[in-house]
Amino acid sequence: MADSALNTALRQFHAAADRAGLDDSQRVILTSFKTVFQTEFPVEMDDGSFRVFQGYRVLHNSALGPTKGGIRYSPNVTIDDVKALAMWMTWKCAVTGLPFGGAKGGVIVDPATLSQSALQNLTRRFTAEITPIIGPDKDIPAPDMGTNAQIMAWMMDTYSMSAGYTIPAVVTGKPVSLGGSEGRYEATGRGLMYILDEHLSDAGGVRGKTVAVHGLGNVGGVCARLLQQAGAHVQYICDKDTGIFRAEGVDADAAFAFIEAGGVLRDWDGAGERIAPSDVLLADVDVLVPAAVEHVLTGDNAGKVRARLILEGANGPTTPEADEVFQQRGITVIPDVVANAGGVTVSYFEWVQARQYLHWREAQVNEELRNVLIPAYRGIINRAMSTPDCTLREAAQWIGVERVVQATMLRGIYP
Ligand code: GLU
Repeated sequence: MADSALNTALRQFHAAADRAGLDDSQRVILTSFKTVFQTEFPVEMDDGSFRVFQGYRVLHNSALGPTKGGIRYSPNVTIDDVKALAMWMTWKCAVTGLPFGGAKGGVIVDPATLSQSALQNLTRRFTAEITPIIGPDKDIPAPDMGTNAQIMAWMMDTYSMSAGYTIPAVVTGKPVSLGGSEGRYEATGRGLMYILDEHLSDAGGVRGKTVAVHGLGNVGGVCARLLQQAGAHVQYICDKDTGIFRAEGVDADAAFAFIEAGGVLRDWDGAGERIAPSDVLLADVDVLVPAAVEHVLTGDNAGKVRARLILEGANGPTTPEADEVFQQRGITVIPDVVANAGGVTVSYFEWVQARQYLHWREAQVNEELRNVLIPAYRGIINRAMSTPDCTLREAAQWIGVERVVQATMLRGIYP
């Protein structure tokens, strides 16, 4: 049976803790969870019946600041996944240099099966349940898989109603007209492109490179679109049940527009051969971007991956077994905690703007995004290059863990 994401996160943590020289008590502190909140709550459906849903919000560590991380709506959410994702947010914020700790939330639901009004009821009730633990100085949710700007608007409104006044900084990823940041919708995909372009700068950047993008949601879709615009050949794309290959490049921009409008790739009539989504992972391309879910690259398929470079758009797409295979085969993995940090970075900008009642232009957002991501990426490259036998993931997690343990020691343990 496949290992859980939490086991993966813990194995990665201990590898980083070995590098950073953490003692046992520091390891116990950094692998503990500040708050693990679990709720079962009823929601009224359109036909007047009620259904009970399960939801979670996990705050991992707040040594560096208020906790930050998305909320996902998915039928596959488990408490262990949410813990793993919260822990990854801690290292992501730390390695990127943001003044946040890590958190994550989830509701076990397939949002595609709910009407807009049931989705709104569910979101408002879940927000009411987590209201005691979230807040602009405490814990700030954002979109993740299955959630979007509209859901953030309902969350912001519900939280504000209970306070009696509008508190835009309680969530990020809101609609721009409600205090959302310009560029937040594209931020994760744009960050992936900035980092890839920098990584390939000696080889002419992304222009002319062949790419396979696995997953066509907010992360994979925007990434594929921006790479296409920047002159890469996006030869492979897929959603949950349809893959498409075209040697001259799939029109990823049009395919993603079709999905944004509520479609699925099966119904899209653009050019390209239809293939299995899992074959996208084995594509013979320069760059593979896993941008769907955790654990798609495993000990079973890592030996068959043909790309020489993997850029992690999803959180935790690679198991430790696959990491070992990639290291042996000389395949470079640019790890999630820096590769996909564009989303939380622009979330940070959104939170800063909300707290100052300011609105930045998109050009400013994108420039500041680059100013945060490129030095973070460089720091990881330098750490890996100056350490024998150190992958980019080990370097990234090492820097993240080091910063969190330093903050913990400086603050001291209360009382
Ligand atoms: N869900 C995104 C992530 O995994 C963004 C989190 C945020 O913006 O707080 O990084």
